[in-house]
Amino acid sequence: MKPFAYLRAETVSDAVRACAAHPGAKFLGGGTNLVDLMKLGVETPGLLVDVSRLPLDQVTDTAEGGLRVGATVRNSDLAAHPAVRTRYSALSQALLAGASGQLRNIATTGGNLLQRTRCPYFQDTTKPCNKREPGTGCPAREGAHRDLAVIGYSEECVATHPSDMAVALAALDADVVLHGPEGERTVPVTDLHRLPGDNPDADTVVRPGELVTEVLLPPLPDGTVCLYRKARDRASYAFALVSVAAVLRVRDGRIEHAALAFGGLAHRPWRARTAEEILSGAPATDATFLRAADAELAAARPLRDNAFKVRLARHLAVDALAELTART
Ligand SMILES: Cc1cc2nc3c(=O)[nH]c(=O)nc-3n(C[C@H](O)[C@H](O)[C@H](O)COP(=O)(O)OP(=O)(O)OC[C@H]3O[C@@H](n4cnc5c(N)ncnc54)[C@H](O)[C@@H]3O)c2cc1C
Ligand code: SF4
Repeated sequence: MKPFAYLRAETVSDAVRACAAHPGAKFLGGGTNLVDLMKLGVETPGLLVDVSRLPLDQVTDTAEGGLRVGATVRNSDLAAHPAVRTRYSALSQALLAGASGQLRNIATTGGNLLQRTRCPYFQDTTKPCNKREPGTGCPAREGAHRDLAVIGYSEECVATHPSDMAVALAALDADVVLHGPEGERTVPVTDLHRLPGDNPDADTVVRPGELVTEVLLPPLPDGTVCLYRKARDRASYAFALVSVAAVLRVRDGRIEHAALAFGGLAHRPWRARTAEEILSGAPATDATFLRAADAELAAARPLRDNAFKVRLARHLAVDALAELTART
């Protein structure tokens, strides 16, 4: 591993200042992704600014009736929080479907959002990779891409975003608060992660030196139900092949509100806006759910070995919406 300096930040402004003063410095949350990538030589920061002990470890109610989640709240604590389990169960389920108990005990909200792709070529410095080293190529396109993207990808990169939590947050319309050298700004989670385009080295819209300080969950009107489902190769300790987060409110048999996001399909959590348009105001029936899922997934362009993901996504979405309807 390349030698690096280490600094434990006591305040948000210290953390931002330290990172801004050292080009290439990285914030350290739980370290469960960053340190692994440093060991592999994929990440080579000269300075680690440890933010894991910043006073951002609380989950609190907002004045509007939503929740404010600090960036250093551990994944286990967030999943177990009573308000998350009862009001935002999709988020709790997504967190518990990720990684392992030990990892969740150390992984943070900010780090989970900004974890990097699990594309095997990205993690192997003996191979070319446009995300790791722009302009070197994308061996995944013709190579091992069974787990990779079917929608929204580009010639340059077919990687998928790995976070389960981010998919639930996308369907729940959460916002992310960022503090940087130029001040504070708020970005919807759905806009945080990028499609790869011709610069897949940028995973997100986060600017250099910007620290995630909190995630804001809006209130959910009475009668809203939600869930997260994940299909994977093993029953636990595996990233999603496909996952879905669904949020639904049905009144008198008609869909009043529907939000749907897929994981494992794209370079970012894939918010299914086309499906949502079809669902909105329609009868809450399997026929509607199928029509909506098919309309959304018509844009998929599977690679040689991953067409199964499209079928999986269709079934997961329809099952999730049917299950939620039965609960309303
Ligand atoms: C074996 C294994 C299996 C896994 N399985 C899953 C899975 O099934 N589903 C899943 O979702 N995840 C899975 N993970 C990933 C795991 O969830 C992430 O490693 C973890 O959530 C990252 O959080 P962290 O706090 O450790 O981040 P770190 O490793 O500390 O940081 C990750 C990135 O975020 C940046 N960062 C950290 N905090 C902040 C902040 N506050 N502001 C700005 N930038 C910040 C860092 O600079 C770094 O770039 C798995 C990991 C492992 C090792
Ligand atoms: S899919 Fe993206 S991350 Fe994977 S090899 Fe291609 S460029 Fe690199």
